[in-house]
Amino acid sequence: MDRLFCECGEKAVYLDNNSGISYCKKCFLNYIYKKAVKTIKHYNMIEIGDKILLAVSGGKDSIVLVDIMGKLAKKLQKIKLFAVTIDEGIEIEGGNYRNEAIEYARVITQKYSIPHKVVSYRELFGGSLTEYVKANVYKGSACSVCGVFRRRAINLIAEELGANKIATGHNKDDEAQTILMNVLRGDLERILRLNNISEEFIPRIKPLRRISEREIAMYAYLKGYKFQINECPYSHDAIRDKVRDVLEQVSTQINGVYDALLNFQDKLVNYITIHQVTLNKCIYCGKPTSPKSKICKPCEYKLEFTKKINYIHSNESL
Ligand code: SF4
Repeated sequence: MDRLFCECGEKAVYLDNNSGISYCKKCFLNYIYKKAVKTIKHYNMIEIGDKILLAVSGGKDSIVLVDIMGKLAKKLQKIKLFAVTIDEGIEIEGGNYRNEAIEYARVITQKYSIPHKVVSYRELFGGSLTEYVKANVYKGSACSVCGVFRRRAINLIAEELGANKIATGHNKDDEAQTILMNVLRGDLERILRLNNISEEFIPRIKPLRRISEREIAMYAYLKGYKFQINECPYSHDAIRDKVRDVLEQVSTQINGVYDALLNFQDKLVNYITIHQVTLNKCIYCGKPTSPKSKICKPCEYKLEFTKKINYIHSNESL
């Protein structure tokens, strides 16, 4: 087949390196939408009557998630969508890092008439991420605290809205990297949590988990959507960066390596679901926490933050 033209005869705008198939704009957008729908069906992600909270950061993945889910909800008629954007409170020169993304999230959710809420760490956890970082609550990266708070924040909003599912925009590259990182760490427990084995969590669905980052970027570009491009000032995950590089290199020699990793996880999860893990309840908030601890991570960070802030204030008043 001529790579310059789509099967329909139109001029091609995208070449799928794995299959060697070229797509015109219309066929490409259709192909991605159908791939997301196929993923949703394959994993039984959606049932009629579902109330789904979309986690919309304002980056390309979440913008495409809203577009695809918005289109699907219009077709199905019998699912209800909500959206939330989490404002971490990350200070950058000239303001708040998330402001631009909140605007993009507003535009796309309005297009599909999806109710959209913005919630900040300050409202929920008593301080912004920058304040937590400055208080030196956690010795590791800011992302560790941020990730813990984001998961809790989204869960709280889902509970408040009565959502029975949470949809995130994780793409195939993110998923494959996370799986490989967990394998390299030997972290089976994290794989269990990743897949929401406990019934106490609101189930998470990832309709884009079989769509590559390159495909998502192209989809957003062809649709003319604006999304946040600037990287978060705290973003630096040395291990993920290495794993990303390794996967990129290996994928030039082994076709379909990203899908192979996702298939590996699916098979593992099917096996592991037989062996349920019993989680503890946090003694402060009652939410599920690791079998090894009595306090959940968000409460642990909040307590530490409050202690440090009180210490600073008591020293100031001396
Ligand atoms: Fe949070 Fe890290 Fe993402 Fe920044 S890069 S928004 S700190 S998780």
